[in-house]
Amino acid sequence: LASKEVKKEPSVVRISDTLAIGGKELVVMAGPCSVESEEQIIESAKAVKAAGAQMLRGGAFKPRTSPYSFQGLEEEGLKLLAKARDLTGLPFVTEVIDPETVDLVASYSDMLQIGARNAQNFALLKKVGQINKPILLKRGMSMTIQEFLMSAEYIMSEGNQSVILCERGIRTFETATRNTLDLSAIPVLKNKTHLPIVIDPSHGTGNYHYIAPMSYAAVAAGADGLIIEVHPDPEKASSDGPQSLKPKKFQALMDRLKLFAEAA
Ligand code: PEP
Ligand code: MN
Repeated sequence: LASKEVKKEPSVVRISDTLAIGGKELVVMAGPCSVESEEQIIESAKAVKAAGAQMLRGGAFKPRTSPYSFQGLEEEGLKLLAKARDLTGLPFVTEVIDPETVDLVASYSDMLQIGARNAQNFALLKKVGQINKPILLKRGMSMTIQEFLMSAEYIMSEGNQSVILCERGIRTFETATRNTLDLSAIPVLKNKTHLPIVIDPSHGTGNYHYIAPMSYAAVAAGADGLIIEVHPDPEKASSDGPQSLKPKKFQALMDRLKLFAEAA
C-alpha cells in the first residue's frame, strides 16, 4: 500500500482544514521534547508560532532509555498541549507508546507519533492503523528502509492511509553525533513510496549546533517537513536539552528556510 507501484502520485496527508503534509509547502513542527508545565508548553507554542512553525510538538508519554528518567506528564500533558493549541491555533503531534493509550492520545491530538523505539511494535502499529488520525512513523534506530516501509504497511493494512515517514537518525559506529542522520533516506524513500517524508535533525544529531545545517540539507534533498525540538530554557529541560534550540535560534533557522523557499 505504501509502494509507488500501487500509487504513483505523492500522498498529501491532511492534518486540519488548513494544513497538509506532502504538498508544495514545507511543514515545520516544533516544540519541546517533553511537556513539563503549562508555562513551558505555552511559552514554547507561542515562540514556535511566532517563528512560523505550522505545528506544535511535545511529548506527554515519554519512552525513556532509563526507567529512572522523567516519564512525562501523561494525560495532564495532553491537556496542556490542547490548551496551547487553543491559545495559538497550532495543531499538535505527540507520541503514543502503547496500544492501551491510543484512544486517549487520539482524543486530544491532531497527529500521533510512533517513536523509534516502537517502530516495530506491531500491536501498536496495528492499533494506530484502526484510528482516523494521521500517524508520524519514526524510523527505528536499527531499521533498514525496507523494514521501515513494512512498519508503514502494518498501519496502512489496518485501514489508516494517513502515514508520514520520519527519518530521525540511525545507529552507526560514529559517536560524534547521537545518531547518524540518514539524509539519503529522502531520495531513496521518494523512489519507493508515495508517503510524505519528514526529517528530525534534533534526534538525528543530538546537538543543537547541527540542527540548522541538517535542516537546510533535508529541504534541499526534498523533505516534506521538519520536526525540531525547541525549548525556552534548554539547560533546564527534563529531556533532550542538548539538542533543543532556544526560540531565538529557531527563529533564525526559520527565517533562512523562508529565503530558501523563495529562491526555489
Ligand atoms: C521524541 O520525539 O522526543 C523521541 C523520543 O523521538 P525518537 O523516538 O525518534 O527517539
Ligand atoms: Mn526528544
